[in-house]
Amino acid sequence: MAESRRAYVVCPVCGHAFRAVHASTYVTVGREADLCPKIPGRPSDGARLIRSSVTMCPACSFAAGEPFDRLDLTFDERYGIEERLKEDGLLKVFSKGQPPWLGFHAAEVCGKERSLESRDLGDLCLRASWVCRKEKERPFESTFQLRALRHFMRALQEDDLVGRELSVTTYLVGELNRRLGNHREALNWYVNAGRTTEGDPRVAWLDRLIDRQSKLAREAAA
Ligand SMILES: [Zn+2]
Repeated sequence: MAESRRAYVVCPVCGHAFRAVHASTYVTVGREADLCPKIPGRPSDGARLIRSSVTMCPACSFAAGEPFDRLDLTFDERYGIEERLKEDGLLKVFSKGQPPWLGFHAAEVCGKERSLESRDLGDLCLRASWVCRKEKERPFESTFQLRALRHFMRALQEDDLVGRELSVTTYLVGELNRRLGNHREALNWYVNAGRTTEGDPRVAWLDRLIDRQSKLAREAAA
């Protein structure tokens, strides 16, 4: 079902060498309304595959969605990352227990120092929320949905999103609001998302999703 490969990687922050698992391809059977891939098999297997999209160094907790050998960190970035990782409260508490969302959290912490765009930071948090749902970590699912929501809102203000990315990000702001119980807010964002698609046939799937999820939000808001 899923192909995964193990490869030695070297941490670009602390130099530790370790074997990391990458899922190269996996089969999905559609997506949930927040775009979480539906993966055949047990939810925890699906969670494991989604988790393998980030690599985390077991020694210093540096994490990223990109392959480590493609990262070229400056001296200042390395120093800044080390400081952030050392001071991070969640890493202090959870690094021993290694909860399933930890790699995404660490990648977000490091991503801020690497000046990743808000859209990418939001994606890390969104994927963390998917893993939490599959692993039934309910309070953390909401925590990461809220963080993803904030990054996506900032992306809409500051990143120059266009086309499909603009439409999908606007839709996700609606959908995350709905999942967090802000139904009226969600409705406004679904309307905004609908305006960005302008009947583009390439995003007809998104128009259908907007219609369906708007109905749910309207019923819940009534
Ligand atoms: Zn390291």
